[in-house]
Amino acid sequence: MAERTRLPAVQQPDWGTELAAVVAELRRRPALVTPSSCYSLQRELAAVAAGAALVIQAGDCAERFTDTMAGKLDLLTALADQVEVATGVPVVRVGRFAGQYAKPRSESTETTAHGPLPVYRGDAVNSPDEHPEARVADARRLLAAYDHSATALDALFLRDLLPPFGGTDHPHSVTYASHEALLLDYEHALVREDDLQGGDYGSSGHLLWIGERTRAVDGAHIAFAEAITNPVGVKIGPDATAADVATLVTRLAHGHAPGRLSLITRLGPRLGQTLPRLLDELGPLARDVLWLCDPLHGNNLRNRHGQKTRVVDDVVAEVAACCAVLRDHGLALAGLHLETTPEPVVECVGSAPDLDRRLDHYTTVCDARLNAEQAAVVVATALDAGWG
Ligand code: PEP
Ligand code: MN
Repeated sequence: MAERTRLPAVQQPDWGTELAAVVAELRRRPALVTPSSCYSLQRELAAVAAGAALVIQAGDCAERFTDTMAGKLDLLTALADQVEVATGVPVVRVGRFAGQYAKPRSESTETTAHGPLPVYRGDAVNSPDEHPEARVADARRLLAAYDHSATALDALFLRDLLPPFGGTDHPHSVTYASHEALLLDYEHALVREDDLQGGDYGSSGHLLWIGERTRAVDGAHIAFAEAITNPVGVKIGPDATAADVATLVTRLAHGHAPGRLSLITRLGPRLGQTLPRLLDELGPLARDVLWLCDPLHGNNLRNRHGQKTRVVDDVVAEVAACCAVLRDHGLALAGLHLETTPEPVVECVGSAPDLDRRLDHYTTVCDARLNAEQAAVVVATALDAGWG
C-alpha cells in the first residue's frame, strides 16, 4: 500500500531529483496522528450519520508555514459553539489546518508584474514570491510541511489537554485536523499500519479529502482514499456525474462504518439544477454518506480590480439552497465546509455592488476567505434555513 499506484495522478509538481531522498526520510519519521485519534473522529462522524451530531470543517484555503494556530482554533471553536448553542446538538470540529499546505490549480502559469511565472502550489511545493526561483517545486519543502504539521498538531493536542481557563459548562470537545490529500508522494510516504482496525491509514491528518480536480474515479487519488482507513471526503462540483458519485460511494463508503465518507458539495449557482438530479439518480446510495456543503468554491469571482473574491450573498444563497434540496430528498445537511481566517481581512464582499471596490485588507495567497464575522453570518444562514 505504501507504494504509489501506476494510475494517473494529476496536479503533481515536477519535483527535482531530491524527491527520492525526501520520501525515504518521510517514511522513517513517526506518524503525525495516531490510528486511535482517526478512529475517534470516525466514531464522532458515525454519530453525525445517525443524526445525533453535526460537523463544522473550517480553516484556510492555503495555510502558510509562518501561521500560528491559536486564532484558527478559536475561530473554529466559536463557529462550532454557535451551532451547538442554537441547536443543542453536539458539533464535530474539524480544522482545515495542520497540513493544508498544497493547492491544486486551474492554470499552471500566471501573469505577474514580473512576467509569466509558474503558479504557487502551496508552501509544501513552492513560494508565492514573484520571481522564477521561488516558483520552482522544491521537494525539501515536504519535510518542512511535515515539521509545520507536527508543530500545529502539538498546539491542537495541548489545547485538548489543557482547555482554556474559565471553561464552559458544556463538555470540552476535541479538535481534529484535515487537509486535501493532494501530493501523493507525501501522503503515501506517511501511510502507516492501522493497528486498531487493521489495514493502513494516512498518518498525515485525521480526515483527508480529495479535491474537485483530482477526484477522477480511475485516478490515483481516489485509489489512495480507498486504501486508507481514515474518514475521507470528496469534493463534488457541478460537472460530477451521478455514475461517478455512485462509484465513489460504493468504493469509499461501503464496507466501512457510517460517516466514513463525506461528499462535500461545491456547486455554486448551478446547485439548483445539479443537486436534485444527482440525488434523484443516486437514490438510496445518497443515504450512505454525509452531505457537507462548501458554499465557497462554486462562487469564485474576480472584482473589477482583478482580485479573487466571493460575494457573501451568493455564499448564503448556496447554503440555504443546499439545505432545502437535501430536505426535499429526505436527507439532512451534515455539516458546513468553510474557508475562513481569524485575520481581520476583507477578501469576500457582502453583495454584488461591492465588486467595484478594491480590497485593501487582503492577504490571501490563494482563494478569498471569509473573515470571522462573515463566517458567523454564513453559519447563521444555515441555522435559519433549518440546519440541525
Ligand atoms: C479547496 O478546498 O481549496 C479547493 C481547491 O477546493 P475544490 O477542490 O473544491 O476546488
Ligand atoms: Mn480554496
